[in-house]
Amino acid sequence: YQPKYDPKTDELRGAEALIRWKAPEEENMISPGRFIPIFEKNGFITEIDHYMLRHVAKDQKAWLDAGCKCVPISVNVSRAHFIESDLAEQIRDIVDSAGTPHELIEIELTESAFFDDKNAMISTIKKLKDYGFAVSMDDFGAGYSSLNSLKEMPLDVLKLDADFFRNDEGDGRGQIVVAEAIKLAKNLNMRTVAEGVEVREQVEFLASQGCDMIQGYVYDKPMPKESFARKMA
Ligand code: C2E
Ligand code: CA
Ligand code: CA
Repeated sequence: YQPKYDPKTDELRGAEALIRWKAPEEENMISPGRFIPIFEKNGFITEIDHYMLRHVAKDQKAWLDAGCKCVPISVNVSRAHFIESDLAEQIRDIVDSAGTPHELIEIELTESAFFDDKNAMISTIKKLKDYGFAVSMDDFGAGYSSLNSLKEMPLDVLKLDADFFRNDEGDGRGQIVVAEAIKLAKNLNMRTVAEGVEVREQVEFLASQGCDMIQGYVYDKPMPKESFARKMA
């Protein structure tokens, strides 16, 4: 789990669940960059995402029952899912079998799925929102972003990609783009999460621009669930 914080108050506001693979023959955890692309090709990505959702829903329910101050936790749903017309129902059923309130689960979609099947994506987003799940657009600003997709997708959260915060030349151009993206999201009634923020000066700047949450090494790296649970206690 990688926590998300309010940059104004430094309070915990949420987290993202990020998969890790512990292989017996390897000393370190295997990062998703090494296996997600393979599962996206062979189709098993669907099972990975369901596995993650099941575990997150189960953890949230256990923390809730233990009296923790739970925050919403987001899970990634790969674009490969969108060929399934009952994706939203599948997600709802998995969360319901754990008995977890829907407002504690958020779904992260990558915008690139929009270009595969726009109508399927819009219909899934609408259903998820009807069920009470927050839906976020992941990796906004990386690669294929299109402002037009924001117009058509009724999303709750915009996740500003780490690219915005890397190699900032300090000439102010990067800051203008970020500030305007936050403004745009606000006008569309969306919350913003800045991803991959590593330096404190950027936290101050993002707070001053009204960015709602920061998820980055400047606060915390992804951590095992026991460490994350202590932050909510
Ligand atoms: P993502 O969804 O964009 O997740 C954010 C990635 O940025 C994570 O990498 C996180 O560890 C990293 N990160 C966060 N803050 C910082 C920072 O300040 N500096 C740097 N250098 N990195 C930061 P991770 O965990 O390696 O995941 C990589 C990608 O793998 C994710 O990117 C996501 O696309 C995919 N992924 C992870 N778990 C799942 C999953 O359960 N299902 C699916 N479909 N994809 C997943
Ligand atoms: Ca994500
Ligand atoms: Ca991302």
